[in-house]
Amino acid sequence: MSATANTIPAYLPLRNDLIGEEPYGAPQLDVPVCLNVNENPYAPDPAVCEAIARRVLEIAPTLNRYPDREHIALRRAFSDYIARESGVRLDVDQLWGANGSNEIMLQLFQAFGGPGRTALGADPTYSMYPEYARDTFTGWRLAHRNPDFTLDLDALVAAIGDIRPSMVLITSPNNPTGTPLPLEDVERVLDACRDIQVAGAADGVRPIVVIDEAYVEFRTPGTPSAVELIERHPNLAVSRTMSKAFAFAGARVGYLAASKGIIDCMRIVRMPYHLSAVTQAAALAAFEHTDEQLARVDHLRQVREDTAAWLKTQTYQGEPLQVAESGSNFLLFGGRFDDRDAIFDGLLARGVLIRTVGPAGWMRVCMGTDEEMAHFRDALVETLRDVE
Ligand code: PMP
Repeated sequence: MSATANTIPAYLPLRNDLIGEEPYGAPQLDVPVCLNVNENPYAPDPAVCEAIARRVLEIAPTLNRYPDREHIALRRAFSDYIARESGVRLDVDQLWGANGSNEIMLQLFQAFGGPGRTALGADPTYSMYPEYARDTFTGWRLAHRNPDFTLDLDALVAAIGDIRPSMVLITSPNNPTGTPLPLEDVERVLDACRDIQVAGAADGVRPIVVIDEAYVEFRTPGTPSAVELIERHPNLAVSRTMSKAFAFAGARVGYLAASKGIIDCMRIVRMPYHLSAVTQAAALAAFEHTDEQLARVDHLRQVREDTAAWLKTQTYQGEPLQVAESGSNFLLFGGRFDDRDAIFDGLLARGVLIRTVGPAGWMRVCMGTDEEMAHFRDALVETLRDVE
């Protein structure tokens, strides 16, 4: 698959602030080993595929009608899943679904951002956030993380006080670094927002804190998710997705767990019938097979640990590669590559696609199947030898 070049004739009245912008997205190249977009590399098993086909066949005769706008059955399934995965039971009106957590995030910006408002993140972070901000005319500001990519809480708390944002947006575990986020840090951010008056808003309006938990299932077993804090913090929103651990990226299903008040704000900005009946049916079928869908998560976590240990034994210009601590299904590695493009090209020439992303000197690789990881290792050894 290769995209056509984006050419926009000058006579089109594209918004001034969008002129010169490029469509976002990692390259979609036809390469044997794709380790660049943090997917689960294991396909749904045949029983799941059959269940999806059956559920979609069941609703096909109703496709002349609009779907359930409130996607109640699916919100119940999110509730069951979170109860099982994180041990927290939320009501249907504390949950909300959309086409990927990308759409969840956009809806958050539509509801809580806008002209005169600012969202605050912690750099390095997910590269789509500035795009949601741009598309909703929301200011986007960053506090910097520590050199080991953990949150610099003092800097973040100071920035919250200075900027008085309407949204504080933190990724947990972080992308592209993989850094886990302890619950105490989330609580400190929530505490810092408690007495903040959002700039330009009415008296008593406080920031919301959004924790993007796209990769949360890959965290160390036994560590808590931020969903545990929802009951006590009505201004906390936790975004999740079926795209990563749940191995369902192609279906485009993300969801938000938050207070009923926040969910009701999302309902104002959503497009009518934004989740198709086909999407809802497919997601319900997948949730019926949660065990199978999550079957490889433990293994992928182990592959991450093995790969991190192996990467640290490899050298670049005589020094061992650095590897950032990760609670995710990917690793940020390198640390001092002075020509990342040469590493990227060397791997690509050997059939392996990874991602040039994050701070200078680092690259990100997502965990694949065992065969794919063996291929990655061989390709990296050869590439490092060539660029020396
Ligand atoms: N948040 C983070 C941190 C991500 O890395 C991604 C995907 N790369 C998303 C959200 C969006 O994922 P999706 O729309 O597939 O749910």
